[in-house]
Amino acid sequence: MRKPIIAGNWKMNKTLAEAVSFAEAVKGNVPSNDVVDAVIGSPALFLAPLASSLEGTDVKLAAQNTYFENAGAFTGENSPAAIADLGVQYVIIGHSERREYFHETDEDINKKAKAIFANGMTPIFCCGESLETYEAGQTAEWIEGQITNGLVDLTAEQVSSMVIAYEPIWAIGTGKSADANIADEICGVVRATVEKLYGSDVASKVRIQYGGSVKPENIAEYMAKENVDGALVGGASLEAESFLALLEAV
Ligand code: PGA
Repeated sequence: MRKPIIAGNWKMNKTLAEAVSFAEAVKGNVPSNDVVDAVIGSPALFLAPLASSLEGTDVKLAAQNTYFENAGAFTGENSPAAIADLGVQYVIIGHSERREYFHETDEDINKKAKAIFANGMTPIFCCGESLETYEAGQTAEWIEGQITNGLVDLTAEQVSSMVIAYEPIWAIGTGKSADANIADEICGVVRATVEKLYGSDVASKVRIQYGGSVKPENIAEYMAKENVDGALVGGASLEAESFLALLEAV
């Protein structure tokens, strides 16, 4: 049985005061960690104060990015060692916005995945196709390529414990969510790719999220699908009430 995982991706939103008041509003109201993993993906700036606010609660933190070296002359970057030291458990990597605007390659994402594991955290590894690829009927090959290249040299144990988020680019922030059957089918492609690379035991353990215009009103449709173990949620994770409603629907 795979435990559901709902992760909010705040992207570049909120001030410190807004971030902390969100944490204060949700922390006593989330379902138990035994039933569902509730994760907030915050800008790096707010991770330390959020970690203090959320200490000992059932809400976990994710960074939205990390560099792959633990220290050095990399102006403006955050190291995975420093992120882990704050008590952060997850790091989102390979989001389509990072691939597109910051030119991250599969190879960069693979290095980040290794660095995240080396520092005792768990990657939330994003993959997803453009509208052009989707319309050309090439989604499955595209996803298989991103997974195969992104997981290079990870161990079976690591892949078993990680989270992979399938986020069709055309569904992100557009209000045009993928049909739940399509989400299930492509999350199934992710699982089949993991199975091909690591075998059926690993494939049965890896948690796969759908992301792209998920909201409290539609999350149950996705969660009912066999291959969908959770959601990565942008817009609908920004308000405490909506984040709690997503968790309650699971
Ligand atoms: P959205 O974003 O829920 O606002 O579509 C999802 C994401 O980019 O992770």
